[in-house]
Amino acid sequence: MKLSVIIPAYNEEESFPKFYPSLLKVIIDTVGKSYEIVMVNDGSSDGTLKLLQDIANQNKKLRVVNFSRNFGKEIAVTAGISYAQGEAIIIIDADGQHPPELIPKFVKLWEDGYQVVIGVRESNQKEGLTKRYGSKLFYKLLNVTSDTTLIAGATDFRLIDRAVQAEFIQFSEHYRITRGLIDWMGFRRATIPFHANKRIAGQASYRVSKLIRLALNSFVSLSVAPLYIFGYVGAFITFGAFMVGLFVIIEQLILGDPLGLRVTGTAMLSILTLFLVGILLISQGLISVYLSHVHAQTQNRPLFIVDKQNSIRLT
Ligand code: UDP
Ligand code: MG
Repeated sequence: MKLSVIIPAYNEEESFPKFYPSLLKVIIDTVGKSYEIVMVNDGSSDGTLKLLQDIANQNKKLRVVNFSRNFGKEIAVTAGISYAQGEAIIIIDADGQHPPELIPKFVKLWEDGYQVVIGVRESNQKEGLTKRYGSKLFYKLLNVTSDTTLIAGATDFRLIDRAVQAEFIQFSEHYRITRGLIDWMGFRRATIPFHANKRIAGQASYRVSKLIRLALNSFVSLSVAPLYIFGYVGAFITFGAFMVGLFVIIEQLILGDPLGLRVTGTAMLSILTLFLVGILLISQGLISVYLSHVHAQTQNRPLFIVDKQNSIRLT
């Protein structure tokens, strides 16, 4: 089989039926019958499962991996990749935001020998400033502080070769950003720019708070720079505090305040204390992020649990 199409779906009962026909048409135009569609139902609370079961009854090439609860998109995509049996694997959203018309382009580049083909989202003017500049800053920082080269705007809309899949399923880390791991692996890469469509229906489940968490988790999984940075900041502040303290002691206590500053000890102390407490809290927070990763890894839980009874054609 040539092509596996992986689609994570979380509460997509409204948008997927509208997206599916156009997707199917492009797939068949591109590879004929040599395809499979692996749907991962990520614990949807609406009628997504029923819908997928109905479609699977009509199209034997559609497989359904049904999660026992919501595990999040990153894990859903991971599961899809591990079940895929095609020579090339394309990951695409269920909500119609990733234009299926580009699939032939992905496949063409793969046939040309690229093992990873990445859909890169052209910046969207309508997107909020926070989202746009936030993501710019995120990529800058991450590229400077880690040895993984991430392309700004790179999405999960991508194709990977079977060989990349074989490596990918070796990863056992729990806090994972699928595209980050794929980027980390390297391989021969090509990019395809695209403009994201509007969501067909429903709501994007990534809100700003979730995006910040995603950014933070990518950072911790790909870079240890934050730990070092706060080490340096801590050293700098301690040094600064030491110098200011020295100045106050000499100016006030030894020379008898020739500059007439009349700094009270209490004022000085409280400012310093607050500052240091702030730094301590930030660094503690960061350490706890790292700790939580260690924690999750040592727990060594399975990454996902498949509800086998409700899945279709798992093997
Ligand atoms: N998705 C998922 N599990 C989740 C959240 C989202 O499988 O917990 C799927 C969703 O059905 C869609 C894709 O991931 O196919 C992208 O999600 P969404 O459109 O909510 O986010 P966006 O990336 O567009 O902001
Ligand atoms: Mg979307």
